[in-house]
Amino acid sequence: MTNLAAPIDRNAAFAPDKVAIRFEGAAITYAEFAREIARAAHLLRTRHGVRPGDRVAVLAANAPSYLSLLYACARLGAILLPLNWRLAAPELRYIIEHAQPRIAFAEAAFAETLHEAAPDLPTAPLAIPEGSEDKDGPGTLDDPLLLVYTSGTTGRPKGALLAQEALFHNAVMSHHMHGMTAEDHVLSVLPFFHVGGLNIQTTPALQAGATITIHPRFSADVVLAAVAKDRPSLLLTVPATLRALMAAAGWETTDLSSLRAISTGSEPVHPALVGAVTARGLPLLQVYGATESCPIAIYTRLGCATTAPTSTGLPGLLCEARVADDDGRELPPGTAGEVLLRGRNLFRGYWRDEAATAACMQGGWYRTGDIATRDTAGHFHVHDRRKNLIISGGENIYPAEVERVLLEHPAIAEAAVLGAPDPKWQEVPVAFLVLRPGAALAEEAVREHVAAQLARFKVPRRVVFTDTLPRTALGKVRHFELRPLMETARA
Ligand code: AMP
Ligand code: MG
Ligand code: MG
Repeated sequence: MTNLAAPIDRNAAFAPDKVAIRFEGAAITYAEFAREIARAAHLLRTRHGVRPGDRVAVLAANAPSYLSLLYACARLGAILLPLNWRLAAPELRYIIEHAQPRIAFAEAAFAETLHEAAPDLPTAPLAIPEGSEDKDGPGTLDDPLLLVYTSGTTGRPKGALLAQEALFHNAVMSHHMHGMTAEDHVLSVLPFFHVGGLNIQTTPALQAGATITIHPRFSADVVLAAVAKDRPSLLLTVPATLRALMAAAGWETTDLSSLRAISTGSEPVHPALVGAVTARGLPLLQVYGATESCPIAIYTRLGCATTAPTSTGLPGLLCEARVADDDGRELPPGTAGEVLLRGRNLFRGYWRDEAATAACMQGGWYRTGDIATRDTAGHFHVHDRRKNLIISGGENIYPAEVERVLLEHPAIAEAAVLGAPDPKWQEVPVAFLVLRPGAALAEEAVREHVAAQLARFKVPRRVVFTDTLPRTALGKVRHFELRPLMETARA
């Protein structure tokens, strides 16, 4: 294999008329997709002067040409820079000034924001016009292919640089996790500007010669209707989208029988979600990873004995994972420590940030910043981000555990728990809560609810009721944005 575009050509050679992508009523065969990739490569090289190593930005909702541009970059040895369309102009400006793309492909709806963020950046429409084809190019599996700025639940975004070989190894792990073959039909609804939406099922399906259906963006009702009508075999969600599906009117009645599994990850998965999917006769597969691991690193595998619903599974086929102490030494089962990852799915480093790269690499291992415990069977239980850990009177409190209990209360719609400085205990837990519409709840009732299930030191000292919680595009709470509110709450 020369580069990551080659498997698409091979799939087009084996099955030219097989549908690669369904999108808004259109069907694109592997032969047509391979030609669009070749046209995109030619366009990038000749019209936009893209050379190996150049960055090509995309600011668009999910669409087939997003993927054509990805594989065209692979052919040319160039780097795709997917931009989050939910960002405001100043946030985009930071990333664009840092990554310095040569060109940006933008959907018309975002052109104005893009112009505000980077008035001098050349832009092009997302659609790939008719034209000549580059059927070959200098790209190799060793070249960097994706520059993804991480969603930043803890601060300023950093650009993780992923090589073509990382996507290749990640795809092999997706095939292993899902038992994915050319027979599969993947319904792809999570944003491509995150490695989860792009690489947990989408690019692996194209590598396998399977069919994908792309939705420009997630809508619970549209997804349920599409499951019933298009009969996909695989669906990837994050817990927030899964909860939205379950809250939709059609959840109980939609025919889900075409699905072999629903997959989810990106934050700790509440056991109730596992139960609700299982109750509909489907396995819920869990996947753990990060932008820096492309992302697949740890997962539960379809057809393998299910583990405790709080387990996120075993290290993947081609990724090593350990729970380690601060010196990187592996800890025994039952002892909590940091998750370390190693493998060819891992990133090459942060773009123009050697200090940040050095800070998270240790002896060839990537320190994820997440805390987990392995059980005696080797299954990983991810508790929380290390940065979120609250230490109160010498005891560890994982906010995710307290949040899980809070969310079991019928009046509570959303919950986030943070540590507030405390003169006596060092830190104490504070809960930020969004109540369900029309619900009322006293602070004392919140404490009683938690105290019935968790140790006293884990019970929130203060409760702040709020209308919304700041979240990333994938629905993860941005804890650092709540910190200033905590100070206000105290005053
Ligand atoms: P990102 O780099 O934005 O993709 O975020 C990666 C982070 O998401 C990880 O470091 C974890 O903190 C969290 N994460 C991803 N998958 C899981 C999971 N299955 N369970 C718990 N946390 C997860
Ligand atoms: Mg993520
Ligand atoms: Mg991260």
